[in-house]
Amino acid sequence: MAERVLVIGGGGREHALAWKLAQSPHVQQVLVAPGNAGTANCGKISNSEVSVTNHSILAQYCKDHNVALVVVGPEVPLAAGIVDDLTAAGVLCFGPTARAAQLEASKSFSKSFMDRHSIPTARWSSFTDSQEACNFIQGAEFPALVVKASGLAAGKGVIVAGNKDEACQAVRDIMKDKAFGSAGETVVVEELLEGEEVSCLCFSDGFTVAPMPPAQDHKRLLDGDQGPNTGGMGAYCPAPQVSEEMLQLIKTMVLQKTIDGMREEGAPYIGVLYAGLMITKLGPKVLEFNCRFGDPECQVLMPLLKSDLYEVLQNTLQGKLASRPPVWQEKSAAVTVVMASGGYPGDYKKGVEITGLSHAQELGLQVFHAGTTLKEGKVVTSGGRVLTVTAVHSHLNSALQLANQGVGAIAFSGAVYRRDIGHRAISFLTCSRALTYKD
Ligand code: AMP
Repeated sequence: MAERVLVIGGGGREHALAWKLAQSPHVQQVLVAPGNAGTANCGKISNSEVSVTNHSILAQYCKDHNVALVVVGPEVPLAAGIVDDLTAAGVLCFGPTARAAQLEASKSFSKSFMDRHSIPTARWSSFTDSQEACNFIQGAEFPALVVKASGLAAGKGVIVAGNKDEACQAVRDIMKDKAFGSAGETVVVEELLEGEEVSCLCFSDGFTVAPMPPAQDHKRLLDGDQGPNTGGMGAYCPAPQVSEEMLQLIKTMVLQKTIDGMREEGAPYIGVLYAGLMITKLGPKVLEFNCRFGDPECQVLMPLLKSDLYEVLQNTLQGKLASRPPVWQEKSAAVTVVMASGGYPGDYKKGVEITGLSHAQELGLQVFHAGTTLKEGKVVTSGGRVLTVTAVHSHLNSALQLANQGVGAIAFSGAVYRRDIGHRAISFLTCSRALTYKD
């Protein structure tokens, strides 16, 4: 019997999850709450207006609508206990419990956890008093130049300072001026790490770790990794800088140790675990954990997943990953380019008409919507990151060219996007070997 699935969220990540779930013969309908213009009445996919913050209304809705599985995209509902509450109400829900989601929701928890389990990470200290934090920064043995709000701050709570004074100013901004609200009541001050930054995600059923191919995100707004930090302006996968041996090392030293540690501490971790890593000269070190798919990493991972996503999620929930690991496309690379509203990550206009979407699709590209909505039959902007254009090809370079063509076909006034997604991989491949994933 084909089932109904509910995806929680409304960004490019959730559109990619819904798109992949809709390909499963087990899935009859994918509802997305709240969704966006791309998930409104598109084949098996449609939007739902159900409240996702009131978990008892949501549980009743799932029962009334025979929802067989809820898949949670963003971190906020996970930290708020959506999995705990829906599970208690008898609704199957994919993602970690609130306790397990502390790995993302509290940086001071995740740093102490990593120390308890000898998981490599930057040296650090946490503070609830701004003066103590500044004294530490001025006297630390290591360059203590990264200041982080401990709580959830929509990916914005990290300041990489240029010097000690800037780091102290960041502490004051976070703790005294409450730049990130209550997320900054505790700050983590840590060592500045240097190296190649990569995203290594896995599915885990609480015991087994099934790594996904490594990806790289581009956080800065402008080409050449310049300009302000954003939620992510594009991504590609696999990142060839991460060798098979390095991935194996990350699996054993980071992912498996985390899953084992959480289980041993009585908070088994079931879901997607995302390790943001710096590959330093001394090996991989964890920058942060996320308790869900990354956005835009999800938009390059889903097109490369060969297995049926619905089956993978069910196998994860049923503890069957060891015998039924997910299978990935081996000889393909995926690139996604984000188109954002002019002014993002600051203020931006909404309601701007978007044209050319069907042209991009005619080129064989997947357009995942994020900040879009329907107005009088037209697709208009409604957020900072508006959409992502994903291309898949056997060569990374060609995938990038295709994605750029797709971006060129789409237009809205003030659109901002990068033209150099994947540039670090391309330099790496040019220096070390041919531009191909085929060998
Ligand atoms: P996060 O949200 O924790 O991933 O941090 C945002 C960005 O800040 C990361 O993607 C890194 O580029 C940077 N970052 C975080 N921690 C460190 C660190 N210890 N050393 C260098 N860069 C860092």
